[in-house]
Amino acid sequence: MKYESTRGGSKDVFSAEAIKTGIAPDGGLYVPKEKVSVDLKFIEGIVNDTYQERAKKILSLFLSDYTYEELSECIDSAYGDNFSSAEITPVVKLNDQLHVLELWHGPTCAFKDIALQILPHLMVKAIKKTGEKSEIVILVATSGDTGKAALDGFADVDGTRIIVFFPDKGVSEIQKLQMVTQEGKNTYAAAVKGNFDDTQNGVKRIFTDDTVINCLNQNGMKFSSANSINWGRLVPQIVYYFSAYADLIKKEVIKIGDKINFVVPTGNFGNILAAWYAYDMGLPVNRLICASNENNVLTDFIIKGVYDRRRDFFRTLSPSMDILISSNLERLLYEMNGRDSEMIRSWMRDLSEKGIYSVDYETKERIRKVFWGDSSTDAETIASIKSVYEDCGYLLDTHTAVAVDVYDKYMIYTSDMTQTVIVSTASPFKFNSSVAKALFGDEADEKDEFELLELLSERTGWNIPDGLKNLDKKEILHNTVCEKDEMRKTVIKILGI
Ligand SMILES: *Cc1c(COP(=O)(O)O)cnc(C)c1O
Repeated sequence: MKYESTRGGSKDVFSAEAIKTGIAPDGGLYVPKEKVSVDLKFIEGIVNDTYQERAKKILSLFLSDYTYEELSECIDSAYGDNFSSAEITPVVKLNDQLHVLELWHGPTCAFKDIALQILPHLMVKAIKKTGEKSEIVILVATSGDTGKAALDGFADVDGTRIIVFFPDKGVSEIQKLQMVTQEGKNTYAAAVKGNFDDTQNGVKRIFTDDTVINCLNQNGMKFSSANSINWGRLVPQIVYYFSAYADLIKKEVIKIGDKINFVVPTGNFGNILAAWYAYDMGLPVNRLICASNENNVLTDFIIKGVYDRRRDFFRTLSPSMDILISSNLERLLYEMNGRDSEMIRSWMRDLSEKGIYSVDYETKERIRKVFWGDSSTDAETIASIKSVYEDCGYLLDTHTAVAVDVYDKYMIYTSDMTQTVIVSTASPFKFNSSVAKALFGDEADEKDEFELLELLSERTGWNIPDGLKNLDKKEILHNTVCEKDEMRKTVIKILGI
């Protein structure tokens, strides 16, 4: 299977090339050229499989230029003892209609591990398969969780170096410590004085900066991306939507062919886009519910068909969703507008020049047929953590709580009785200060994030994940801070070129 760029100005490539380069040379995103479809028999066939077996069957449909053995090696190395659940992405029942898909059992306690534990393996094989001689420099902009997950995934992977930029005030203390204590001879983390959009824009500019690219070339290096614009980030995420469906069949919650809903806490639109690909392949889905925090640019887009980033940026309790430019939406738009790259180019031009674009009526209606969107305030997020804990004894992190709150709103509008899966994107311990505040009120104010880990664990009986223990005792290995217009200089300096 080949991949093409959403902007229509790059040649088609195999998946190894798409994964190696991350973004297409014309600035577009790679999408599969052909539709991948499975039938209900295929889905029945994965019900008794392990997660790894499910992954092998699904990834081989998309990454057809990798051999089955190559994919097996990648999958077996990515999903093993580094996850705290043998099921990798277990589904937990909240009530008769609501289930939680826990995506945070990986080493960094957020869902990005699912993709970033496997991406380096796919990348190393891609380097070999394409005869690449250059060292690959992974450049990442992070709102917190991607950064650590990418550093952990790429640490000491031969033939690669990784540089992560994070907004200095846009990440939690724990997230920051996770990054700046990262070991590995090829890892670098730097704080940027700005917000996530500044950071992401800075990285995007470096990716297309000819001077920097030439400088890298002369030194035998080449950029790639581990952000969710890389197809190798997206495709592993399709697996857990099938896996959740298969688990619900196994638990006899649904019968084969029954439709279910997914509620996805959304930022850059990667996770929910993977859900859409699963739906497009034939997974029985009723609604994909897009949950935003107060940075509700996507929710508004789903309702109105107008993407308008000209609005205030809010720092919320769900920082990994504090995003005004959702890069992966471009892929959905391409799939929904009849694969018209000229139209994509004009919308993206409007977005960068005017901060706004409107899609045509047909595109909007196609999106609305499957997507539903709404948003939550911080107060609603906190209330939902509290009520779910009181009613079900289940701890939600702030991002997952946004999803639960949006689901409650969805139910008020629709009274839909469909079985629904809340996609849980982080361990409650990762965002413990907000979670503790929701449960214990002012008592939480006097404690730091590490005391709160203990408190949360003591009071709830939930275990602190290994990845978050002793972080405050680790040595700080990265202390670079730069202005947002100095990111390029910082890259050159780090690489020593
Ligand atoms: C990255 C992240 C999100 C947003 O996911 P997207 O794929 O960017 O939409 C939500 N929650 C958490 C905890 C995250 O780390």
